[in-house]
Parts: sequence; structure tokens; C-alpha cells
Amino acid sequence: MHDPSNDEELVRSAAALIISRRIAIIGTVPEKPKPHHEPEEPRAAESGPEAERDLRLMRCALEAAALAAERGEVPVGAVVAKDGEILATAHNERETLKDPTAHAELLALRRAARELGSWRLTGCTLYATLEPCPMCAGALHAARISRLVYAAQDPKAGASGTLYNLPADPRLNHTYPYKSGVLRDESAALLRAFFEQRRGRQ
Ligand SMILES: [Zn+2]
Repeated sequence: MHDPSNDEELVRSAAALIISRRIAIIGTVPEKPKPHHEPEEPRAAESGPEAERDLRLMRCALEAAALAAERGEVPVGAVVAKDGEILATAHNERETLKDPTAHAELLALRRAARELGSWRLTGCTLYATLEPCPMCAGALHAARISRLVYAAQDPKAGASGTLYNLPADPRLNHTYPYKSGVLRDESAALLRAFFEQRRGRQ
């Protein structure tokens, strides 16, 4: 399925995204952010309202990830949504906050809980541009999240199907369904472009 000839274009468009995006990520949901990679290909022949919603919200998470890159943070973004409405958006802020736990998912969960006035995020879906690590998959469990959607797999720290499968571990008192691969190539390209730029500066 992977077409390596697309890689160069993806890295270029991701680099352009890093450089050009100047967007407010908190607040209203942009109806349709400018596509940075045309044409959009639905993954795994998926269609329907839920797939469209997932794509729209993952684009918002990707915008947040691009903003992280502009700020010198590893570009990972996350969105918490309920009934298709965004409750919280966050990006990785480890460098800015000098906090090893300031992953995008964790920050988004905290903001969503504040927004709802409850630690319990039942009915919410978390969108992340990278597979949640053990800490974040654990936080999703603690928040009683209803669903997880992520873009790219993380072979080095992924705890949502790759190295561990915390969302589906039946020994835990709460499990949650997850879906991966939504805007996977775009997310991976953004990460690749970030690390290439950083290497270039060194
Ligand atoms: Zn994490």
C-alpha cells in the first residue's frame, strides 16, 4: 500500500505546513482547513459520516502538531471532541513547559476535563497524530475515554496496539476502542520534516 514515490512530496508539503501555518488552534473549528496534500485519499475505503468526522478532527490535531513544530516541539497534536465538537486542542509542549509529561494527549485531556468540569470523559473521543505512549494510553484509561483515533503508529513507544495494547487489555477495568491510520502519511511526514530540519540546523 505504501507508495515511496509520494514520500518526497509529503515531506515537502509537511515542511511547507510547518513554515506557513499561523493559526489559532483554540476556539472554533475551522470548517475545512486548507488541504495541504491533494487529493485526499480515504483510508481503507472508509466512508460515511463517522469517517468524515474523524478526518475533519484529525486535520485539527494535525494543525496543532504543525504549530508545535513552529515552536521547536516535536510535532504531535491532539484533540478531544464530544459529538463532533472540539472540547480541547493541544500540542506537545515538553520543551516549553520543561515537563516530561507534557504530551499533546495529556494536555488535551486535562483541558477537556476542565471544560467539562469533570475528570470523567465518557462520551469523548481523543484524536492524536501519533500513537499514544504508555503514559497517555494510561491517562485515557483513567479518563474513561470512549474512543481513540490516531494517525501514525509509534514503533518505539506506541502503547495502543504496537508495543502494548492498553486500550484493549481486558485486565483493566475500562477498555476503549481505537482506530489508527487516519492521516497517517501526513502525520509521519510532518515528523520526518521536523527531524530533517532539525538535523539540517545542527
Ligand atoms: Zn504520551
